[in-house]
Amino acid sequence: MPANKKLLVLPGDGIGPEVMGQVGRVVEWFGDRRALKFEIEEGLVGGAAIDAQGTPLTDATMDKAMNADAVLLGAVGGPKWDNLPFAQKPERGLLRLRKDMALFANLRPAICFDALVSASSLKPEIVSGLDIMIVRELTGGVYFGSPRGIETLADGTRRGVNTQIYTTPEIHRVARVGFELARKRGNKLCSVEKANVMESGVLWREEVTKLHEAEYREVELSHMYADNCAMQLVRNPKQFDVIVTDNLFGDMLSDQAAMLTGSLGMLPSASLGDPDETGRRKALYEPVHGSAPDIAGQGIANPIACVLSFAMMLRYSLDLGGEADLVENAVRNVLASGKRTGDIALSGEATLSTAEMGAAVLAELETLGA
Ligand code: NAD
Repeated sequence: MPANKKLLVLPGDGIGPEVMGQVGRVVEWFGDRRALKFEIEEGLVGGAAIDAQGTPLTDATMDKAMNADAVLLGAVGGPKWDNLPFAQKPERGLLRLRKDMALFANLRPAICFDALVSASSLKPEIVSGLDIMIVRELTGGVYFGSPRGIETLADGTRRGVNTQIYTTPEIHRVARVGFELARKRGNKLCSVEKANVMESGVLWREEVTKLHEAEYREVELSHMYADNCAMQLVRNPKQFDVIVTDNLFGDMLSDQAAMLTGSLGMLPSASLGDPDETGRRKALYEPVHGSAPDIAGQGIANPIACVLSFAMMLRYSLDLGGEADLVENAVRNVLASGKRTGDIALSGEATLSTAEMGAAVLAELETLGA
């Protein structure tokens, strides 16, 4: 077991602290029952930090994030801060974390737990057993490229410009994450772009192919245009193992793939940076959902996305795949036993509170792993 791994916990706003509270219980369980001790620091981010510290993320919290083995975040935002200028909004705290930690690879698994097959909008046979991973490039491409802006032309009409740019190193480092993940999973990587109409897509395809030939020949590599990928994800998603794609296409395809599985309350994510000289990657783990102001404070949010984000942290930052399996199996068993929070219950089904779902996961952990 690793000694004294440093975790920075940033619960954030709305349901963030509610779901993170349940992760805290899981962390404690690992300390008590598996001798897995963490050095945990807690900090403020988003609206909570604006209210207490006047900024969505202080430099001191940023420093702690840079020095942590992993950062676990709940969610940020809410109507209270909606009218602040863009540069002061809660989301700026999250964007600063991603930028300063140089988190260039966003990992979004789409796993359909058997017990929730009926929650998907697709037919059971299409999604049952689904387990795919989308790797989205997160710090480059059209969201960051320049020139960008809106200008008024001589004739009084206006023009909006954004620029899609990718360089060889940017493509290689994210493709490398995709290949490495594929190696540990089903050994298949599908690289997605629009090489038929975009030069940046031609470069993407050529560079992924070069890297494959140089270092990852044993991984089965395929290429697909992004529009076809969108179609294939609803036609036959189980054909995929790992998908790697750029920032823009990844934004859309990862949301699409995520919803194959049913509910936002179930979806974890990881964002990774480059490894340092010791092999340690900066990393941020967070549920895909936001602060859910419509249910915040009621104690009914589903904590599973945040619990599964912690499991991803065990797997990808601490290399504790067995412990991550334990958490995921506990969640699987809880769902199989019919326990549901409101977001994943069918109408008429009894529902658990956030704390009750946390307790159910702990009870399963106890059965599986004490
Ligand atoms: P949201 O994800 O907060 O909520 C969308 C819907 O899903 C709501 O009906 C909500 O009740 C439900 N939901 C989400 N998570 C749930 C859970 N764990 N259990 C049960 N139900 C859940 O998205 P939104 O409503 O578009 O945004 C609300 C706020 O969150 C905004 O301020 C937005 O900017 C922010 N936001 C933050 C993040 C983040 O922190 N990463 C991501 C998305 C949105």
